[in-house]
Amino acid sequence: MIRHLAKKTIFSVQPYVPGKPIDEVKRELGLRSVIKLASNENPYGPSPKALQALRRAAKDVNRYPDGGCFYLRQALAKRLKVSPEQIVFGNGSDEVIVLAVRVFVNPGDEVIIADPSFLIYGIASRIAGANVKAIPLKDFSYDLEGMKEAVTDKTRIIFLGNPDNPSGKYLTQKQLEDFLSGLREDILVFIDEAYYEYVRAKDYVDSLGLLKKHKNIIVTRTFSKMYGLAGLRIGYGVAGEEIIDCLNRIREPFNVNSLAQAAALACLADQAYYRTLARRIERQREVLYRGIRKLGLKYVESCTNFVLIDMRQDASGIAKALLGDGVIVRDMSAWGLKHFIRVTIGTEAENKRFLSALREVL
Ligand SMILES: *Cc1c(COP(=O)(O)O)cnc(C)c1O
Repeated sequence: MIRHLAKKTIFSVQPYVPGKPIDEVKRELGLRSVIKLASNENPYGPSPKALQALRRAAKDVNRYPDGGCFYLRQALAKRLKVSPEQIVFGNGSDEVIVLAVRVFVNPGDEVIIADPSFLIYGIASRIAGANVKAIPLKDFSYDLEGMKEAVTDKTRIIFLGNPDNPSGKYLTQKQLEDFLSGLREDILVFIDEAYYEYVRAKDYVDSLGLLKKHKNIIVTRTFSKMYGLAGLRIGYGVAGEEIIDCLNRIREPFNVNSLAQAAALACLADQAYYRTLARRIERQREVLYRGIRKLGLKYVESCTNFVLIDMRQDASGIAKALLGDGVIVRDMSAWGLKHFIRVTIGTEAENKRFLSALREVL
């Protein structure tokens, strides 16, 4: 019996339940084709240049990866106009979230998040022994006033998903500046920009600009969403060198594999591909909106590649029925949104199929 020796805090979280592999779903349901619109992946795949880079890098997988991500770091620093020492790479940006919590949160400290928000913020914080204060969204947007009022002497981190998942909503420059003004500077403001590349709004936050003035901010982005490398696991954080130095101390030396580094570098160099892709997704988002309206349903306006849809009835049943038709969407019960599903914007054909399956199910 060893379970009683495990840290108590690990029992405060539910283990992550992975979805079944698509091939397994096909086999079980006897379906020929299944489409996955559940994890906000890019349905078109990464730049062809990234695939070439992967083939080239594959022959060196007998070697350990470059623990410093040298070439990627140089390219990214240049692109973002920050110093190479201001970047930390992670095995997905999820890892950067976990590193930040491990560095700054002691048992009994407080972490402030929105509710609902990206699940990892709360999970990582609870495991570290934090008291998590979850401030309800107001009409799917952050209640920044409420979050600021929740700050106490014990507050260590405030997580801001911008845009957030599952809401798909973003914070403006003005909102964030107001939030930061008067906020204690020994609280880490964690700005998660996993969907940064999708946002077109003019008043969206220039978070890297804010880094110059505020030493207590970290901004994370990822190659998993727009860049189409979710399966390789690579993301990064940008912050002042002080914060990055702290994270690097507990980072595993080879946390980012060599294939991920090679592919990410090639993605960065092919911005033309991603500009086209962003426009496609944007057009498809409009198609999806129209289809949802036609069904008499409401959605939450999103600036990302996913949309929350209000089914006005228990959404678990709908998600299950859609699965029976070979369409995997996210049932939002785990987020406390019992009537909602979250759908990732797929290719034109996938969205068509989703809409017609939904029409049938209803
Ligand atoms: C997908 C996602 C991430 C994490 O992505 P990684 O694959 O770990 O880089 C982080 N934040 C939000 C809000 C996300 O939706």
